[in-house]
Amino acid sequence: MFGNLFKKDEVVHETPNQWIKCPKCTSLMYYKEVEVQQNVCPKCNHHFRINAEKRIASIVDEGSFVEMDDNLAPVDPLKFSDKKSYKKRIEEAKAKTGKTSSVMSGSCTIDGLDIEIVVFDFAFMGGSLGSVEGEKIVRGITRAIKKECGFIIVSASGGARMQESTYSLLQMSKTSAALNRLHHKGLPFISILTDPTMGGVSASFAMLGDIIMAEPGALIGFAGQRVIKQTVGVDLPEGFQRSEFLLEHGLIDMIVDRENIRETLAGLFKLFKKEKKVIEVEKVQEDVQENEEVLEETIEA
Ligand SMILES: [Zn+2]
Repeated sequence: MFGNLFKKDEVVHETPNQWIKCPKCTSLMYYKEVEVQQNVCPKCNHHFRINAEKRIASIVDEGSFVEMDDNLAPVDPLKFSDKKSYKKRIEEAKAKTGKTSSVMSGSCTIDGLDIEIVVFDFAFMGGSLGSVEGEKIVRGITRAIKKECGFIIVSASGGARMQESTYSLLQMSKTSAALNRLHHKGLPFISILTDPTMGGVSASFAMLGDIIMAEPGALIGFAGQRVIKQTVGVDLPEGFQRSEFLLEHGLIDMIVDRENIRETLAGLFKLFKKEKKVIEVEKVQEDVQENEEVLEETIEA
């Protein structure tokens, strides 16, 4: 469905001696010049897509990330085949990225605070959401509940993985239900939307953050623009489905430049922790008051 939107490869290549052309301002730059700025164009602030490893390195405390569940790999329950078999597509994605799924998940600290994190890698089958990705997200949430810590998902995804059909769609409700458990424990979930966050991912966990932040210029939506235009039969406004448009229309909470994400996360998680303590103290005070009332009633009786 979104194939036409994603053909343009915006990932900065790692090969040395490579010159990069910014797709936004068309400047030609030496790759190191871009890399040193966390893969953001120094001329126009265009945020290039980055892989999960680089994303994790840009957010967590150095050396604190411990990967979990990297042994989970997709199976092919439907024996699905389109132009290629699903099995073949998995093998190719594995060879290309060295990963067995489109997410990396694990435990880390951010400014010393324990955090569970899940990061999408768009290079693995368009960051699509399949059974393994859903399971890794739920396990991350479960760990956050056990450790009573915050939870982050960094999305970069074309949506549900069509090769897993209903198994893939089920992950939307499975992850949403797990986030509800986290919510009832009073633990924060921060959703970070990066280019692109589309389809079933945007229609489930990505939009369920206590705070939803996005990188500048990220494409965020459910259906692709072409499909919407054909359906509604009118021209779509300028900047439609980009972070700035979504912020203006109240769908996300903030746009944060890549270089400021770590600091913003640390600040927010500290605020949540303080708030949780205040709520807990208030609860205890309420309990004390109730018990006192019961005691008084008993004495009077
Ligand atoms: Zn640029």
